[in-house]
Amino acid sequence: MPSTLTSTAPPTPPKTLLIHDADVIAAMDDQRTEWPRASVFVRGGVIEAIGPASELPTTADEVIDARGLVVVPGLVNTHHHMYQSLTRAIPAAQNAELFGWLKTLYPIWAGLTPEMVHVSTQVAMAELLLSGCTTSSDHLYIYPNGVRLDHSIEAAQQIGMRFHAARGSMSVGESAGGLPPDALVEREDHILADTQRLIETHHDEGRYAMLRVVAAPCSPFSVSRDLMRESANLARALRTRMHTHLAENDHDVAYSREKFGMTPAEYAESLGWVGNDVWHAHCVKLDPAGIARFAATGTGVAHCPCSNMRLASGIAPVRRMLDAGVPVGLGVDGSASNDAAHLLGEARQAMLLARVGRSLEPFGCDHGPAEMTARHALDVATRGGARVLGRDDIGHLAPGMAADMALFDTRTLGMAGGAVHDPVGALLLCAPAQTRHTIVNGRVVVRDGQLTTVDLGPLLERHNALAVQLANHRH
Ligand SMILES: [Zn+2]
Repeated sequence: MPSTLTSTAPPTPPKTLLIHDADVIAAMDDQRTEWPRASVFVRGGVIEAIGPASELPTTADEVIDARGLVVVPGLVNTHHHMYQSLTRAIPAAQNAELFGWLKTLYPIWAGLTPEMVHVSTQVAMAELLLSGCTTSSDHLYIYPNGVRLDHSIEAAQQIGMRFHAARGSMSVGESAGGLPPDALVEREDHILADTQRLIETHHDEGRYAMLRVVAAPCSPFSVSRDLMRESANLARALRTRMHTHLAENDHDVAYSREKFGMTPAEYAESLGWVGNDVWHAHCVKLDPAGIARFAATGTGVAHCPCSNMRLASGIAPVRRMLDAGVPVGLGVDGSASNDAAHLLGEARQAMLLARVGRSLEPFGCDHGPAEMTARHALDVATRGGARVLGRDDIGHLAPGMAADMALFDTRTLGMAGGAVHDPVGALLLCAPAQTRHTIVNGRVVVRDGQLTTVDLGPLLERHNALAVQLANHRH
């Protein structure tokens, strides 16, 4: 009888994977170990051993020959709006600052459909995976035409990315003094009920979770104080995390002072939005008092350098935050304000922008170019992001950690004459490369530069057709 046979059969042993003989593995562990000629042995999606190739096994169910490659922990993206992949480089929004940019794009985004969310999420994730990113958050805050967060979640599960799905929301439209058009805002009771449904349906708080759900009202200028408070209560009751936008530019700060009589950090704290279960996107204009409060409370920041430059928002005081002890991760931010989703490239921009920022300080620079080294940037992109997302199972490579890794080829044009001196530094200092292989939870999702889980050609064709449809819908 089939059922008897099934129940008495020995369990299938977990699959093993060997990354064999890499030129160098930058583990980003507590000692920041960089092993030359090293291997990683993975069993059932978890790292079992890592170290010199001569001391590790030489066989496994699947072996990746890593000669010529540099291995780093999978990068972590802490802020994104993946649906915006459909509206990159829209001419009318190319040269606007935040509020004008949003007002130009809101009417276009009002045409978003469930298929558009699914397809654009996969495009954004494909781009991230090929840039070395293995875990991403996505902040979806627009729900017209039957769109649900479940549509992004399905897309993530199909492509095989570790995902922190943030249930965004907007509830204060133009007529109530908010920024978004009234037609794009939702009722607050519905937002809270849907957030609860999503957490109860999908959130996995276990170690090595591939999917977590986050409560994420959009911004001070698009939701009420009540919704911020109630979202925090819900998130804490259900033991999940909270995410929003904060202190993005001078107008954002002016709105907070005028509307609430507080700085953005004071506003956040007054609503319960500080703590080690909270992270805020941008914080370009976080003041010294805010930095101190964030450090004292463990409140995290998603640093989005490309978007901050694109929208002329400013230069976030990242070195000050890091020195104060604020958890800082990287975010590519939405695809319409970057307009790339290359996380290794974002780390490079974080490194470069921090150096520019310090050169602009009135009293000269303390660190000079060492304000942000290549390894600092890699640290923020890996360990920093993991901390911001509240994870102790990703962000560095060690036995017991999730097998999330990015493998880059050092024998390329972009790395020529660089990787031979310092393959890890060259990753950040040379042109941002795409991965040769990307591994998520022990599964090879990019092999030899190609996604193994989706067929990219037809996906892009459909995405581009939908992008045209969205831009041309009646709005
Ligand atoms: Zn954003």
